[in-house]
Amino acid sequence: MSNDSSPVDLQGTLIRFWGVRGSIPTPGPSTVRYGGNTTCVEFRIGGEIIVIDAGSGIRSLGGALLKESAGNPIALTLLNTHAHWDHIQGFPFFAPAFIKGNRIRVIGGNSQPYGLKGVFEKQMDGTRCFPVPFAVLGAEIDFHHIEEESEYQFQIGSVKVEACPTSHPGGCLAFAFETNHGRVVFLSDHETGGADEPRILEFINGARLLIADAQYDAAEITSRRGWGHGSTDEVVDLAIKAKAKELYLFHHDPTHDDDRLDAMLGHARALANNAGAEMVIQSAAESTDIRL
Ligand SMILES: [Zn+2]
Ligand SMILES: [Zn+2]
Repeated sequence: MSNDSSPVDLQGTLIRFWGVRGSIPTPGPSTVRYGGNTTCVEFRIGGEIIVIDAGSGIRSLGGALLKESAGNPIALTLLNTHAHWDHIQGFPFFAPAFIKGNRIRVIGGNSQPYGLKGVFEKQMDGTRCFPVPFAVLGAEIDFHHIEEESEYQFQIGSVKVEACPTSHPGGCLAFAFETNHGRVVFLSDHETGGADEPRILEFINGARLLIADAQYDAAEITSRRGWGHGSTDEVVDLAIKAKAKELYLFHHDPTHDDDRLDAMLGHARALANNAGAEMVIQSAAESTDIRL
């Protein structure tokens, strides 16, 4: 992380979804359109490769990066929102991590008691959890554990990044990138309506693009309070209040098939329409590219 404040070159800003599912991978014919992989989103901003989370979607991202790099070294930053399985489980299958000459910087928080590196090491213990030990990874991998609020603002190359704690059991970080096209906010694993809402509202205020956890519908969330996820109705309400320009529903529930997600998207659009909001609403789907 540097403190350079030079302007960000945003030509070619690209956001690509590699995993949009919450909790557990859900492959199969009923999830083929939105995809069944857990959280992994790639951001190409200011010449940097920034990846948020290493859910099962990161396996396919690894393959794509190897193809693109054609044998040249790969350097990227992996932002880890938190250490729940669905946000780290793909890392042992991330091929670039095995290759000498590649550089991976992992930045995250909320990983006590093991620390950020400990979390990644423990899921590759070489015995009980995974047969291959972390130590065999050939890439140069370094970890920066965000310990304090004073570290919530940092830079990746020339890209300004901001972190914000969410309402989630065990803790979780949302991340925002400042771009010439506006603020891009990733807010997954956040339970809407909690005591932290004013801070979250300020964090996403005026976002050009908001990717937000909308795992449950209005009925489901009533029996799942405290599980740390959002509901469609509350997320739409939050995004309208924050005057977000575009909202992507994210962290889809494993029990919601493609048709159900279509219906939830339709419901979200109707809510925004009824509220007179001009916000564009989409539902995140694997292999979708967003170009700003
Ligand atoms: Zn999750
Ligand atoms: Zn979680």
